[in-house]
Amino acid sequence: MKTVNDFNFNGKKALIRVDFNVPQDENLNVTDNTRIVSAKPTIDKIVKDGGSVVLMTHLGRPKGQVSDKFSLKHVVDEVSKVLGVSVKFVDECVGEKAEAASGDLKPGEVLLLENLRFHSEEEKGDVEFARQLSKLGDIYVNDAFGTAHRAHASTAVIAQYFPSNKCFGLLMAKELDAIQKVLKTGEKPVTAILGGSKVSSKITIIENILSVVDNLIIGGGMTYTFVKAKGGKIGNSICENDKLDLALDILKKADEKNVKVYIPEDSLIADGFSNDAKTQIVKTKDIPDGWEGLDVGTETIKIFSDVILQSKTILWNGPLGVFEMPNFAGGTKAIGDAIGDATKNGAFSLVGGGDSVAFVKQNNYTDKVSYVSTGGGAMLESLEGRELPGVAAILND
Ligand code: AMP
Repeated sequence: MKTVNDFNFNGKKALIRVDFNVPQDENLNVTDNTRIVSAKPTIDKIVKDGGSVVLMTHLGRPKGQVSDKFSLKHVVDEVSKVLGVSVKFVDECVGEKAEAASGDLKPGEVLLLENLRFHSEEEKGDVEFARQLSKLGDIYVNDAFGTAHRAHASTAVIAQYFPSNKCFGLLMAKELDAIQKVLKTGEKPVTAILGGSKVSSKITIIENILSVVDNLIIGGGMTYTFVKAKGGKIGNSICENDKLDLALDILKKADEKNVKVYIPEDSLIADGFSNDAKTQIVKTKDIPDGWEGLDVGTETIKIFSDVILQSKTILWNGPLGVFEMPNFAGGTKAIGDAIGDATKNGAFSLVGGGDSVAFVKQNNYTDKVSYVSTGGGAMLESLEGRELPGVAAILND
């Protein structure tokens, strides 16, 4: 796996695909600069070598139309602030103007291009558009994990114009390394904790990781499809009735592969889908009509925490309950605590994909786990065992 550390950028121009698709407020000020901060180590390394940097990214969904709202000009000040250099901006990403701006760069200078998605060719993976972009640098660096699952012009197609001068940025390398540690080289026992609302959206992940993990912990709304499939009474809990056979099939496959599956023994149930609903804790297989399971119960928290504390490699995807409502966030918090403790004891823990990442950030667990992925869809597709186009384009000749 070639990274920027395998190149000396002295006198060279790096063309870096970053993911600066940052959230903004109504005045278009950047409200969360995590994605910019995440790309800083790669940019710093190139500048330190004596190279110059051309940054390309998309922002929002302009769908091939030029629009002020989605212009990267509103982001350039934040990039300058994070990098500590005055970043230049050009209001095009291909053509004469962009080529002139790139050509004028001196060692140590950084240029941000206008939104790639102002051109519909970007998302179509247009070869000619990719060729035009390729004129803007000597070495192509992909550091945009968040879009690595897309076969777009700037994330994958462009790599063919840099047969021996292409590599991963340091963020990409960290993400790929974290996935590798869980799916390939993880120290045993390996435990995956999968939560969230539906079995159907996690099925491919479950099938893929059954070959890798020793323990599979199921939580969240998915629980009730499994419990009903096994003959339990789940009251009004969320359930995918057309996935009952699938749930049984997963349990059978897990058994064949000697994977121990943990399904919540007890649930915190409510008499309505509301933070103020009446609650009680009951066995998950005995939920009365009119009640629904919205979080794991205390006995389950203890069982899950014990498994997590004995694990050496941990993957967490999806909340254990309806964590958006404070009264049903307890299970998710307790599991976050257990993962934090296991990590302190030397386990490797990866939090990836969607709501669990949001939870970890909101509740300050980021420093308590080994790695929090920056890419939602890209992380989920990796866990499904798919090769990401943005990764393949760098790895393949
Ligand atoms: P997902 O996007 O599939 O990862 O699901 C995340 C969502 O699952 C969150 O919005 C949670 O509120 C929801 N969720 C977790 N547990 C439950 C549950 N017991 N019942 C209904 N929704 C749940």
